[in-house]
Amino acid sequence: MDIRYLKGVGEKRAAQLTRLGIRTVDDLLGFYPRDYVDYSHPYPVAGAPYDVKCVVRATVYGKNGGARIRGGRQMAKATAGDDTAGLILTYFNNPYALQKLEVGREYLFFGKVGGTFTAREMVNPVMLTVESAAASPLVPVYPQTEGVSSAYLAKCVRAAFAAAPDIEEPLPAALIEKYRLCGKAEALQKIHFPQSRQDVQAARRRLIFEELLALQLGLLLLRGREAAHTGAPMRPADLSPFWNALPFAPTGAQRRAAQEILADLGKKTPMNRLLQGDVGSGKTLVAAAGVYAAAQSGYQSVLMAPTEILAAQHADTLDRLLAPLGIRVALLTGSVKGAAKKAALRAIAAGEVELVVGTHAVLSAGVEFARLGFAVTDEQHRFGVRQRSLLAAKADHPHLLVMSATPIPRTLGLLMFGDLDISVLDELPPGRTPVKTYAITGKKRADMYGFVRRQLAAGRQAYIVCPVIDEGENDMQAVTTYYTDVAQPLLEHYRVGLMHGRLKAAEKAAVMDAFKAGALDVLVSTTVIEVGVDVPNANIIVIENAERYGLSALHQLRGRVGRGKGEAYCVLISDHATDAVKKRLSFLCHTNDGFEIAKFDLETRGPGDFFGSRQHGLPTLRIADLMADSRALYAAQKEALALVGADPALRSPGNAGLRRLAEELFSGDTALN
Ligand code: ADP
Ligand code: MG
Repeated sequence: MDIRYLKGVGEKRAAQLTRLGIRTVDDLLGFYPRDYVDYSHPYPVAGAPYDVKCVVRATVYGKNGGARIRGGRQMAKATAGDDTAGLILTYFNNPYALQKLEVGREYLFFGKVGGTFTAREMVNPVMLTVESAAASPLVPVYPQTEGVSSAYLAKCVRAAFAAAPDIEEPLPAALIEKYRLCGKAEALQKIHFPQSRQDVQAARRRLIFEELLALQLGLLLLRGREAAHTGAPMRPADLSPFWNALPFAPTGAQRRAAQEILADLGKKTPMNRLLQGDVGSGKTLVAAAGVYAAAQSGYQSVLMAPTEILAAQHADTLDRLLAPLGIRVALLTGSVKGAAKKAALRAIAAGEVELVVGTHAVLSAGVEFARLGFAVTDEQHRFGVRQRSLLAAKADHPHLLVMSATPIPRTLGLLMFGDLDISVLDELPPGRTPVKTYAITGKKRADMYGFVRRQLAAGRQAYIVCPVIDEGENDMQAVTTYYTDVAQPLLEHYRVGLMHGRLKAAEKAAVMDAFKAGALDVLVSTTVIEVGVDVPNANIIVIENAERYGLSALHQLRGRVGRGKGEAYCVLISDHATDAVKKRLSFLCHTNDGFEIAKFDLETRGPGDFFGSRQHGLPTLRIADLMADSRALYAAQKEALALVGADPALRSPGNAGLRRLAEELFSGDTALN
């Protein structure tokens, strides 16, 4: 049922709910509370802690009507208290709250207690009668957006329960019994309106299991290639011409990973391998070795990158590496158009190019390969699993390599990606010195620019990274104003370029080329340069509003420098340094090891953290947590394998609910941000 027709909703509210991803009554029931306010243990007024949200029990003594104050705001007050102390309740722009209070009656108020010791005050507290708190003491707190309060959402959910005739049970009875799970209808009731903590726990256990099972089933269904034979069995290739043509010696780790890939290419089953290596470890070269090997057996390869900038760069690098060995490279992105595109498509279909490098444009229907055998995705966390399987569908079970700088603990990787094999580049090319990293506040910005100027004077180049394009609501540095107001004046005699996501592809390419060629000294950019960009002469990166990023993202950004000779520097600027932020940034100043950083990120859970969906390409989970719920994940994997083993496409009527669950979970898996 469409959410618009739910009692108490209507068009305007429906639009707000849509923004939360709620379109139907089912969506609403699946919109779980983020937390609960527990009204069962209220504080007496004098005992309430200051400045933290808590529940206070007090009787209302009197009310004074509303008064208009500055800025057209309305203010109203009530006096309340208990035998320990008095409490002033102040309401801004909320006349109804005051109206609802009855003098002489006792209530529970939720909010922060402020004011002074002798005149305690709560501003706009949430209120509950003692009776309703006794009936349901745990009140749900929903993830909110503007204009949609938790109380309103709770009301909608109640209406949804009243409207939803029967809640279907998607799990087979055998599983419910085996894991002693509660039923779906009960779980939904308990997650939204629990009577106790035990209710919450039981509901969570059930819903987490269900979600992880859907995840594992979805992965198995998408893969659906367990015992498949590859259409691209290859002869063992001799890599020595490839190694010999390189301008440098490969690292031991690169050789090892290339050998592992070669061994897979010779097998009858398709390769499904993750190449994991820290930023700068040289993953591109390993992919190139695979491309070379595939070409020796007469197969084409494709490499898919998440951004046009990166695709263009890869095409460039790989062409330089492979063209002398007779491998022809074609670039295919959104900005390759018209005659050039036609020519490229024709050459690909005719087998006249051995390697296609591109963005997700390579997935489009018009791209037909003559003989695709080896498919690579770079920065795999930027792609959904579905996109990987679309790539695989371009040929008859081609060999797949996914590359990532995100270190996933091996066991978790296996759970997340099933039968994926893993190669690790645990060695950096020689001569790399760790990037010297500093965390400073904006007060030191001018000094820091002095340092940047000295590097530029010595012939090096710099990146300056800012978070957003236009002025936001808060004080984030907008990249365009930063460019004109800060960077240009401070770098007066230098050539400063501007790069952000809203530039046209051709403009981006032009800026990037200029920077690469040394025609620009400085690149002021948003995080579009986050992944993969490789300009060895750049040796300093300045990151404004560093508190906005997860550590892994900062580490990725930092990886843009330290790719060439000499010292490299990373400066993290933040004026919002809470203790937690300081600790995180300081950690980054002291380590260059991506694995350590990911571990720390896991432990501290900063913004855009490691297990955010951007980092692993899996669908966003609503309730389960891959790390915290790893036991349930194991169980779900076991059951998913058994279910798919018995019914490979989940077509039997008894599995219809499960199939739908998996499909729903993966339905959003198309976004390429
Ligand atoms: P990443 O693993 O982050 O994708 P890249 O493949 O972009 O790393 O490689 C980073 C840089 O290191 C590139 O400039 C590349 O040419 C260089 N490089 C790769 N392998 C070696 C090597 N064995 N010796 C020296 N430089 C290397
Ligand atoms: Mg790379």
